[in-house]
Amino acid sequence: MTVPFLDLRAAYDELRVQIDESVSRVLRSGWYILGSEVSEFEQEYASYCGASHCVGVGNGLEALHLGLLALGVGPGDEVIVPAHTYIATWLAVSQCGAIPVAVEPNDSTYNIDADAIASVVTSRTKAIVPVHMYGQPADLDAIAGVALEHGLPVLEDAAQAHGARYKGERIGSHGNVVAWSFYPGKNLGAMGDGGAVTTDDAEIAERIRSLGNYGSQKKYVHDYRGFNSRLDPIQASVLRVKLKYLEEWNRRRSDAASAYLKNLADIDLVLPTVPAWAEPVWHLFVIRHARRDTLSAQLKDAGIGSLVHYPIPPYLQRAYADFDSCESDFPISTRMSEEVLSLPIGPHLSAEQVDEVISILREVAGSDPT
Ligand SMILES: *Cc1c(COP(=O)(O)O)cnc(C)c1O
Repeated sequence: MTVPFLDLRAAYDELRVQIDESVSRVLRSGWYILGSEVSEFEQEYASYCGASHCVGVGNGLEALHLGLLALGVGPGDEVIVPAHTYIATWLAVSQCGAIPVAVEPNDSTYNIDADAIASVVTSRTKAIVPVHMYGQPADLDAIAGVALEHGLPVLEDAAQAHGARYKGERIGSHGNVVAWSFYPGKNLGAMGDGGAVTTDDAEIAERIRSLGNYGSQKKYVHDYRGFNSRLDPIQASVLRVKLKYLEEWNRRRSDAASAYLKNLADIDLVLPTVPAWAEPVWHLFVIRHARRDTLSAQLKDAGIGSLVHYPIPPYLQRAYADFDSCESDFPISTRMSEEVLSLPIGPHLSAEQVDEVISILREVAGSDPT
């Protein structure tokens, strides 16, 4: 039996009739930019997240970038980001001309260490950007506490956490702005690029809507030097279908995660830790192992896909060669990049496939591979 890391084709197969019908509806409408398909999705997603507003944009990076601009982040400002994240979080800050200021993760949740944020706040700090890593919410109340104390807005990078709950409430309106990606492999994934922001702040929503549409709210009247970053109506129509299945598909991920947690507990691996207040949506199921690369190769030999999220932290990328920091400044994050391994997880992973991953891992992880 082979177990792919993620099977996107199976996601299409399950919903093929509805997706084909939706895409065809857009094609036949003759309306290909913005329009009702996008605004219907925006309303449905805002309502799902419990947010007052949702604005579709081109992708997750643009959701972060426009969100930061709408919060007033500009050249020379500092923005607090996790050291342990996908590089998009940092790039959005850099795109504003601002400087990412990194904070180490909590060693057991992999999310930004809320207690360490206050120590990097300066007079130039303009915003805090926590990431809900791997689908598990960051400690939003603790982060809000620091933000309130220093008068800073919070922009959540929720690209990996559609449907996750913090203290029983779905994320989507805790911070001032919440940025989402609908990249195909995300929990709510389009069939191409897509993104959105959700917020309870009507003014910020309108600013982002305008920034993504050439800085214009009225045709040919331009209030800002804006961008072209709009959610495609074909993608919106696909997302409207998939949103109906998000809860069910997250539940399937959760079942796979429970099986992994239960059946891998006694072997030589570090398993994910879930705080009592968190209801993660298991975008990724990440284990840690000192001999990560060997383990990954052994899984591959046995027909099991795995990936590393992420092998090189942003501060060690050539893109940030001028970043005034090094490995030793972020020992926890650096060690994570050396030890993390993502196991197959997704709504189309069968119980048999989960069992296969478990049995192979029990064979290889317990033994000394050298
Ligand atoms: C996927 C992702 C993004 C970027 O989303 P795109 O739609 O690919 O631009 C940003 N942040 C995190 C944490 C992500 O996982």
